[in-house]
Amino acid sequence: MDVCWQDVRKSGGSLSLSGRLELPQIPVENSDVLDLTEVVVQVTAETTGRQMRIQGTVTAQLTYRCSRCLEPFTEPLSAEFAETVTTDPQQAQDEIWLVDAGCVSLDSWIEQTVNLSVEFCPLCRPDCQGLCPVCGNNRNTHPCDCVEDVADPRLAAFHEWFDDSKNQGER
Ligand SMILES: [Zn+2]
Ligand SMILES: [Zn+2]
Repeated sequence: MDVCWQDVRKSGGSLSLSGRLELPQIPVENSDVLDLTEVVVQVTAETTGRQMRIQGTVTAQLTYRCSRCLEPFTEPLSAEFAETVTTDPQQAQDEIWLVDAGCVSLDSWIEQTVNLSVEFCPLCRPDCQGLCPVCGNNRNTHPCDCVEDVADPRLAAFHEWFDDSKNQGER
């Protein structure tokens, strides 16, 4: 998706536009993301002299794999970005990108905005019960009565030592 200086200037220095972008690499690069719909982008661009302020909103539907129960679930994504660009090398600095006078590609900002919004350790619901470590059932839909073996080997060794010393004391 591009914003062109000429178009913004032609509409009096301020232009709203919308576009769509496919980001197929996001599910490939994020193992928790199963699917991402086409990203819808709404942009407002404003020019002053040789600078342009570009503000955008990105929305899409993300399908995650729950990190506890491994079931897929879909969540809306909505995030914003704002960047300033210039065609004047004198004005370019940390937060102001130097671009050429034709069109400015927004794709890398859109991708970065979506990437930063991808959840780390997504959960299908805050209280997801996850999978049973004994029988493997999804405990949200198939509660089970399995008892988890939580014996700590260090504790077992302590009991052994304690029993031994007690036996020796009785002799
Ligand atoms: Zn879950
Ligand atoms: Zn179980």
